[in-house]
Amino acid sequence: MKKHLTAMLLLTGLLIATGSCSLMADDTGKLINNKCRQNLKTLNETTAKFVKDTNEHLPPWARYDTVKSSLMSFDYLPQDPIAPTPDCKYFLISNSREDFQWYCALHGVLDGEKTITFQYHEHRIMAKTTDRYMNNKRYKEHNSDLLRWTEYSPTPVERLKYHYNMNPLSTILIMSGIVFVILFVYRSL
Ligand SMILES: [Zn+2]
Repeated sequence: MKKHLTAMLLLTGLLIATGSCSLMADDTGKLINNKCRQNLKTLNETTAKFVKDTNEHLPPWARYDTVKSSLMSFDYLPQDPIAPTPDCKYFLISNSREDFQWYCALHGVLDGEKTITFQYHEHRIMAKTTDRYMNNKRYKEHNSDLLRWTEYSPTPVERLKYHYNMNPLSTILIMSGIVFVILFVYRSL
């Protein structure tokens, strides 16, 4: 029994040592959410400036690429927003020149009355949706696509990565415990 205990302590020590450089909890979902919300904020502000400077009408729904190539010049959008995930795709929605918002296919809008959270690979994502643009067919379709993320089921590895990022030490201890139990059962056979 003592042998097992020593083995477990050694194993735990080893795991902690290998993981010690990243033992601080790292909420990757929160980092992604913040980056994307910052992109939406910048795009909203840029569009507000564009509306103020020109008499142009905004399209009810347009992809970022279309807006950049046919509406706002390089002066307004000198740099493309860096999407924090491959699913962060940006669209402009507008009811009028005064009522518009940028939309991310994964994070929704910046200013929305509904908040939803879901698992996206190993990250916890927070998105916002609004009923304000439900009269817009394209928005409605994209909104239902976004809600489908709530049914996403992460793989065991993604789950493990998520728990490790959120709480590294306890994940290592639990995993070591599982390894120990497996070893113990195996040895007793
Ligand atoms: Zn996004």
